[in-house]
Amino acid sequence: MFIESLLFLIIGALGWTLSEYLIHRFQFHGRGRSGPMTREHTRHHKTAHHFAPTWHKLALALPTLVVLCTTLSFILPISGAVFLPLGFGLTYLAYEMYHRRLHTHAPKGPWGRRQRLHHYHHHFQDPSMNHGVTTPYWDMVFGTYAKVEAVKIPRRHLLSWMLDPQSGRIKDEFAQDYLSRDSDAIPASRAMPAPLRST
Ligand SMILES: [Zn+2]
Ligand SMILES: [Zn+2]
Repeated sequence: MFIESLLFLIIGALGWTLSEYLIHRFQFHGRGRSGPMTREHTRHHKTAHHFAPTWHKLALALPTLVVLCTTLSFILPISGAVFLPLGFGLTYLAYEMYHRRLHTHAPKGPWGRRQRLHHYHHHFQDPSMNHGVTTPYWDMVFGTYAKVEAVKIPRRHLLSWMLDPQSGRIKDEFAQDYLSRDSDAIPASRAMPAPLRST
């Protein structure tokens, strides 16, 4: 029973990562895209710090989980009807928090650094590539994976954690990953030194 429940939990989690990829690619960026969540996603692309309100997401996610749970109860044992939607829902929640964190926090290690490059390439260079947010693996499976060395970002979309608060320029530690499309955001190391202030 424990192993069975765990397997359903893992299947649910993988099911979300695949759904995340398919929804992002075909609903948010597909032909004839429409609907409130698609509009929210388009807005997120235009203003990278914009995220749809939590209640919008809950209004969609909770009924989806109820329908999933009910449908699965007809075809799976009770452990499947409970743990598969649970894995799906928890991974969806993790996706929401992780996506936000990709935008609001600096990477802490190589995986976080690669994930940000992967996602920002989708945002700022080629929206037809790199649809996976929690994982790049579905992009690899379906041929939409772009290996990214550096991303050019318009000045107005540079994220606060990338910038030196004093000079407003890209921090040296991120200068090899991010370039501003505008000339006024050259890396701090290549900027003219600020004039000394008398105190
Ligand atoms: Zn994003
Ligand atoms: Zn997108």
